[in-house]
Amino acid sequence: ENLYRIAGWGEPYFSINAAGHVTVSPQGDRGGSLDLFELVNALRERNLSLPLLIRFSDILEHRIDRLNACFAKAIARYNYTGGYKGVFPVKCNQQRHLVEDIVRFGKPHQFGLEAGSKPELMIALAMLDTPGAMLICNGYKDREYIETAMLAQKLGQSPIIVLEQLEELPLVVEVSQSLGIQPLLGVRAKLSTKGVGRWGTSTGDRAKFGLTIPEILQVVNQLKEAGIINSLQLLHYHIGSQISSISVIKDAILEASKIYVELAQLGANMKYLDVGGGLGIDYDGSQTNFHASKNYNLQNYANDIIAEVKDACSERNVAVPTLISESGRAIASHQSVLIFDVLSSSGVPSDLPPSLDIEEHPIVRNLWETYKSITEENYQEAFHDATQFKEEALSRFNFGYLTLTERARAEQLYWACCKQILEIARRQAYVPDDLEDLEKIMASIYYVNLSVFQSAPDSWAIDQLFPIMPIHRLTEEPTERGIVADLTCDSDGKIDQFIDLRDVKPVLELHPFKSDKPYYLGLFLGGAYQEIMGNLHNLFGDTNAVHIHLTPKGYKIEHVVKGDTMTEVLSYVQYDAEDLVENIRRRAEQALLEKRITIQESQRLLQNYERSLGRYTYLSP
Ligand code: PLP
Repeated sequence: ENLYRIAGWGEPYFSINAAGHVTVSPQGDRGGSLDLFELVNALRERNLSLPLLIRFSDILEHRIDRLNACFAKAIARYNYTGGYKGVFPVKCNQQRHLVEDIVRFGKPHQFGLEAGSKPELMIALAMLDTPGAMLICNGYKDREYIETAMLAQKLGQSPIIVLEQLEELPLVVEVSQSLGIQPLLGVRAKLSTKGVGRWGTSTGDRAKFGLTIPEILQVVNQLKEAGIINSLQLLHYHIGSQISSISVIKDAILEASKIYVELAQLGANMKYLDVGGGLGIDYDGSQTNFHASKNYNLQNYANDIIAEVKDACSERNVAVPTLISESGRAIASHQSVLIFDVLSSSGVPSDLPPSLDIEEHPIVRNLWETYKSITEENYQEAFHDATQFKEEALSRFNFGYLTLTERARAEQLYWACCKQILEIARRQAYVPDDLEDLEKIMASIYYVNLSVFQSAPDSWAIDQLFPIMPIHRLTEEPTERGIVADLTCDSDGKIDQFIDLRDVKPVLELHPFKSDKPYYLGLFLGGAYQEIMGNLHNLFGDTNAVHIHLTPKGYKIEHVVKGDTMTEVLSYVQYDAEDLVENIRRRAEQALLEKRITIQESQRLLQNYERSLGRYTYLSP
């Protein structure tokens, strides 16, 4: 358990059972659990191939309930007289089944949606049917966006148009006058509070979105002039995603609540304070302010926000707002698990040559002597010797003084030395700096049926750490250390950073791969942002996805969303499958004419080609 830190990042949804399989408790501590390995086998029996994205809708429900329960508790604890109405930022995962679930599970909490673009507005307007839930309209807006949002008021919805750019204001005023509809407005402030980590530049004067304080004042004045200052009801900010430190969250809410109070006193009709996203996920389970973690829990988050806003409002005798948060990552990350299989593995050739010939080259001999002399006392020195001899061997080979066979023997001995030195180094409490890369050098490569670019793009693009581990064989010691290489022919298509306590490690503990037995790995906490940002590099398409719901009688597969076929991905790049088949058929006919192929061979080729087009883009076992 400790190896993969599952208790840290998986609580209360993921753990390991006595059979050594990962178990999922989709309803957290309030329901049953299921064996993930058995579930994967059962799904494969239903002809669902790997890689497979398994979505647990109950986890989504649990996350929404938990967030709302924490705010409810904070509201009660601080006698806060306002309420909390969260929204889900659709950008985080726009898949229809997921958004439907969020709206459904959110109903008891009046949980709403946030749109960050015109297409997302289309989703939010059509999908959100919860009376009283918030619909927050962020992002760049044109006339059509603004008109649509305002007209939707006539359908009984209350979309709040959040001004992010000064240029949006005249457009809003004009549309409102021409439609005769009073808009519901918010302003997004550029806070001076500095965000941290990868999205730290989401705040400050140079941030991409939001209005500076002088600009906000301009908005207030122009709304007063237009006679619609009553429309301004909401203050919004977003200081970036995955905020790992609670102190940053506190600084931001402190600054924002002061702005809120001032706006209320300037005559705006303030009702809502929207704290944006940023609520972090503990990817490495360390509960620290490391970028893959966070040093606070949901309850601390809710408490600090409620307490700060209450203080700021009571100091200035302003009614407290309804609080809104736009947590995406914290709602959607846990619900999906990506399962993929290992296709093969390769390690460095570190077996010792059985014996040394009398005639052996002196360099090979030196390496042999080095190998024989390695001890706990001299392993660091032995590493330097072996490295030097290996480099010498390479240089002699390049000058033509070493044969290919001699070079092979030298390299084999070098790896044998490294293997032994690494075994000693692993037993030490302190590993010398110059040996730190040894794990990386000696790592096996596990080739997996997956595209990192499609399924875990943040791992490639921004070195995001996701927990990855085998989902079975966990009673067996994982004696190998490996990196994960994907199917794409791109050297970036790999994962070679894994979670460690407040750090990253270059290799993952894995079991020896046996080609006659499936070996499944799971990538966890990837339910936010990965699916939509995934790309078609090498034309590996969307993976198969299933939605699982746990009932008292066992699990139920609610939806199966088939991954892309080759025909589908080829059509994204404007190939027509029928044209392609026709091309091959014509060539086969020509080859038949010229007697280069038999009719049986040509039929077999065409059948394979046509069948492949209808198939999944990933490898079949
Ligand atoms: N709100 C806005 C305006 C955002 O830009 C984002 C994403 O960065 C979010 C909410 C969601 O943030 P998170 O996933 O960190 O909760």
